[in-house]
Amino acid sequence: MHYRKVSHLYSILKPSEIIPIKYPLFESKGISVDVKRDDLIHPVLSGNKWRKLKHLLLHIESLNANAIQALGGRYSNYLHSLSYVCHLLGWPLEIFVLGYSNQPDTPMMSDARAWGAKLTLVDKQTYRKLRERSFEYTNNMVWLPEGGFDALAIKGAAESIFELSRNYDYLITASATGTTIAGYCAAVAKYQLSTRILAVTVLKNDDEIESNVTQLVGHADNCQIIKGYECGGFGKHNAELERFIEFAREKFSIPLEPVYSGKSFWALYNMAENNWFPKGSRVLYVHCGGLQGARKTA
Ligand SMILES: *Cc1c(COP(=O)(O)O)cnc(C)c1O
Repeated sequence: MHYRKVSHLYSILKPSEIIPIKYPLFESKGISVDVKRDDLIHPVLSGNKWRKLKHLLLHIESLNANAIQALGGRYSNYLHSLSYVCHLLGWPLEIFVLGYSNQPDTPMMSDARAWGAKLTLVDKQTYRKLRERSFEYTNNMVWLPEGGFDALAIKGAAESIFELSRNYDYLITASATGTTIAGYCAAVAKYQLSTRILAVTVLKNDDEIESNVTQLVGHADNCQIIKGYECGGFGKHNAELERFIEFAREKFSIPLEPVYSGKSFWALYNMAENNWFPKGSRVLYVHCGGLQGARKTA
């Protein structure tokens, strides 16, 4: 069954709850920590990916187009969510994946194929060229840039902030292209909130995040990049991070994965331990989902 219209998808989405975390460490430091569970929005359509896609999809629909081309890495959460949503809508999708044909499919790639996406593997050189293209619409075909980096994507990300019913001093989450936190920065500026957006970089691109946010929002005034939790780079992890993920599952009942949410929640915990947050701080962690990325290649 196809949902046909983008707005028909709203009925399958769950609200993103806010859950307070009571834990002796946070209490002893005099800070409050809430978690916004964007990961609960949908079991497959991952939190911030749905937010980033929503207005792009509505725009594509308004153009009367539905065929989409996009690109990403072999574990891309963005391509995973996009493939699923195109499957639900019955829209043809072609994805260009950085990789070689002798490599086994990742779980993301198998899912995308099962949902009817056409996969084309491209080498590094080709990928680098494709990466330079921004949103395009030609011959009824839409080209989506890597990670959904686009002004329409930040409109959806901003909705996370519009849903908050109280003020926070700090909002912390994981950042790769910076598109999601660009949305948060835009919303915070619009409402003239004093919230500082802390972007935990999960890859070694800390300069890129700030310039990407500036490109989308016009400034990066209320955002700060938190480094030191990359564990060597994108998708890389170590035993300490893995132990923390296990610890968080036990103590806070929050499922984390090692690519994004594990690193960013670990940053929050570590910063609290090191008295980074002043006493009395109200801290919001946004869980952006992405749990599919934790699956290993069979
Ligand atoms: C994709 C993703 C991010 C990064 O989002 P950007 O908008 O590219 O910065 C963060 N967390 C999770 C769980 C993701 O899947």
